[in-house]
Amino acid sequence: GCEIVRLAVKDSQDARAFKKIRRSTRFPLVADIHFNWRLAIEAIDNGADKIRLNPGNIYKKEEIKNIVSALKQAKIPLRVGVNSGSVRDLNSARSSLADRLVKGALDYVKIIEDMNFYNIVISLKASSVLDTIEAYRKISKICDYPMHLGLTATGFPFQGAIKSSIAIGVLLLEGIGDTIRVSLTDQPVHEVRAAQSILESLGLRHFGPQIISCPTCGRCQVDLVKLVGDFEKKLTTYHLPLTTKSFKIAIMGCEVNGPGEAREADIGIAFGKKTGVLFRKGEIEKKVSYANSLGYLLNELKKRR
Ligand code: SF4
Repeated sequence: GCEIVRLAVKDSQDARAFKKIRRSTRFPLVADIHFNWRLAIEAIDNGADKIRLNPGNIYKKEEIKNIVSALKQAKIPLRVGVNSGSVRDLNSARSSLADRLVKGALDYVKIIEDMNFYNIVISLKASSVLDTIEAYRKISKICDYPMHLGLTATGFPFQGAIKSSIAIGVLLLEGIGDTIRVSLTDQPVHEVRAAQSILESLGLRHFGPQIISCPTCGRCQVDLVKLVGDFEKKLTTYHLPLTTKSFKIAIMGCEVNGPGEAREADIGIAFGKKTGVLFRKGEIEKKVSYANSLGYLLNELKKRR
């Protein structure tokens, strides 16, 4: 489900692998380069669509110049990716982290602009939500370059997803940000799913059905947690196509809020005792047993594929 793929390039073998990977996917491929500027040239020669440089470890003008001339020739962009873990801290011991991230990026951008290259994307990643938000707010007041949003080193996956959602969500709501990445110490597929959820929650994109389900309480007489969990597991194997239209499915535990939410959805089930009432576009359609409800919902999705 991702739309841009970033690959770490540690050595020449990785850089050469771009040629093969380039042939096997339509997605843009970004080469992530650290320490060794020659790897950027190799990645470009082998079909990279964008180069990410870290100003913390490739900063000699001559080296940057060589990369920039290859970028110009290939007509591809450069991401200036500053990270709190590797921001160069020259003469700025008293500055805030946000200011150091902004300065680190802008000083680097100035070097590149002086080489008449402007095809630039900027990212300023920190592990703290507040520092990240502050840094992006500051830099977006100073320059108009596209911003790639994200936090880094976010900790436990659940916590990381929440931290990323807050930082990225706040910034996107303020109109800051052009691409996003959720960084989790977890399988990349979960990072993509979290990023999709952020965009869905803000109404910016839809990647599949929007699920409305109640938290359950003492009134619920079916195992709704299991049903919703099973539904989620099945959905991940459905590879739903990107759709611009929202499709809401409500799965509710009882008659208190159930019928109301189920009516608002495209399809919804409000459960009673072992049996649910199925609503379609606000109208009652039929009764569905708990045992058959998962199969029924999956069939509905199959029809929409
Ligand atoms: Fe409880 Fe019913 Fe509300 Fe679900 S819909 S949380 S079961 S009152």
